[in-house]
Amino acid sequence: MGRVIAVANQKGGVGKTTTAINLAASFAAAEVNTLLVDCDPQSNATSGLGFVKDPERVSSYHLLMGAATGEEALITTQLEQLWIIPSHKDLIGANLELVNADGREFRMREALAPLRDRFQFIVLDCPPALDLLTLNALVAADTVLIPMQGEYFALEGISELLDTIERIREGLNPELGIEGVVLTMFDERTNLSQQVKTELTNFFGEKLCKTTVPRNIRLAEAPSHGKPALMYDPRSKGAESYIRLAKELIERASGSGLPASAELTTGGTEEHRGDAEVEEIAAGAEMNKSA
Ligand code: ATP
Ligand code: MG
Repeated sequence: MGRVIAVANQKGGVGKTTTAINLAASFAAAEVNTLLVDCDPQSNATSGLGFVKDPERVSSYHLLMGAATGEEALITTQLEQLWIIPSHKDLIGANLELVNADGREFRMREALAPLRDRFQFIVLDCPPALDLLTLNALVAADTVLIPMQGEYFALEGISELLDTIERIREGLNPELGIEGVVLTMFDERTNLSQQVKTELTNFFGEKLCKTTVPRNIRLAEAPSHGKPALMYDPRSKGAESYIRLAKELIERASGSGLPASAELTTGGTEEHRGDAEVEEIAAGAEMNKSA
């Protein structure tokens, strides 16, 4: 059974969508079947993978409204083992349309249930709000991955997210875990970044991912080409960092007994071996790119 990871932080512009797209693409490049679900009316994950606006297309809006099944909503992408359930701006209306609906927080969970056997990872890109859309994602998820920018006020607002996760655990989804916290747009060289990293390590302990994502122009450019960074420029620091992050999460899943652990037995935690694997995935992506 696959593992469902919600990429969430109610703060805007912290790198949720960049993380969701590139992590999902890196899982797929590591040859595990992966589904990316765009849960944000802004539809940035959808357009970032090259899908232009299409009001006729079945989307996550239809899933939440019970108007389509997950099977009907998923579409293939340019990457062989990556599928997406796209979003549409109508999704913003679902917040209101579902206000009085039965089981309104469970719509996404129910829609994804029949797909869980087919994908080792299902990655959910959340909007920058703790609204019903994010709630649906957190109820559907096994774990939450929290992207944070390495800046002075990084921890501000995080207690609200952690409180929400705690409330969901107490009621709607007792199994919800924290996958990790990943530092995005991180500049290793500055004192401030190092201070923030230390502060986050003190706060989150081993939940802080070892992999950090640097500020990298290729990550910002890739969506306008409709590609994940590992197809746009597989050798870029940005693409490599997300390959590393995927590898780190796969290794954690293998050791944790959580969903997705059975299928994933990537060997070795030695640093040099890890680098060889990152290299192999980047090289594979480069070959596909020039093919
Ligand atoms: P929102 O809250 O609006 O959904 P978000 O949290 O999904 O935003 P992104 O859209 O991923 O954030 O990123 C915000 C902006 O920062 C985008 O223009 C993106 O291209 C850019 N960006 C994200 N990560 C990086 C990075 N590591 N290096 C350079 N630019 C980045
Ligand atoms: Mg986003």
